Amino acid sequence: MLNLILFGPPGSGKGTQAARIAERYSLLHLSTGDMLREELRNESALGKEAKRFIDGGHLVPDEVIIGMISDKIDATSEEVDGYLFDGFPRTQAQAEALDKLLELKGTRIDGLLALEVSEDEITQRILKRGESSGRSDDRDPDIIRNRFRVYLEETAPVAEHYEQQDKVIRLPGEGSIDTIFESLCSAIDKLED
Ligand code: ADP
Repeated sequence: MLNLILFGPPGSGKGTQAARIAERYSLLHLSTGDMLREELRNESALGKEAKRFIDGGHLVPDEVIIGMISDKIDATSEEVDGYLFDGFPRTQAQAEALDKLLELKGTRIDGLLALEVSEDEITQRILKRGESSGRSDDRDPDIIRNRFRVYLEETAPVAEHYEQQDKVIRLPGEGSIDTIFESLCSAIDKLED
């Protein structure tokens, strides 16, 4: 199995790249942001609980996210060559829970691929995405700033966690989508060797 984490600040292009990587390497793409938006659309109890956190640019509580990811993995019957986590883990507690979950399945994270993009570029990208995405959390500069602050304070430590396991690969997240995809693929191919 090949299990990867695609990591980076909000708006760093994780979703775009994750879809392509999942296809090329036959991985199951697990995006907690997409799962939460589906819950919101379905107006489920989980969706209603998550909404106020998302709208404020805060993180949804760890137990909600961990439960959601583990249910999704258990509910997946298709044969996959591995998992590609996108937007998860976002806190130290989520990283520890993920490590345990994979260990129970007799597998582990092989690499964390971190896309590096400046805060200025991120704000521009998210505001542009907000014009068409229909995501209310993409339209307000104050909420975007809050998401970036949460990223630095709560999510950056996740890279430290995997740094200690020597699994972090940092890559430039600015440039064309194709160029970034190619550099991600060559990093993944090296991991597989
Ligand atoms: P982005 O990377 O652009 O911030 P996502 O789609 O990954 O977008 O996430 C949107 C929102 O959903 C986040 O701002 C957060 O409120 C919530 N969210 C997504 N994933 C997680 C997670 N792993 N832990 C906590 N909250 C999450």
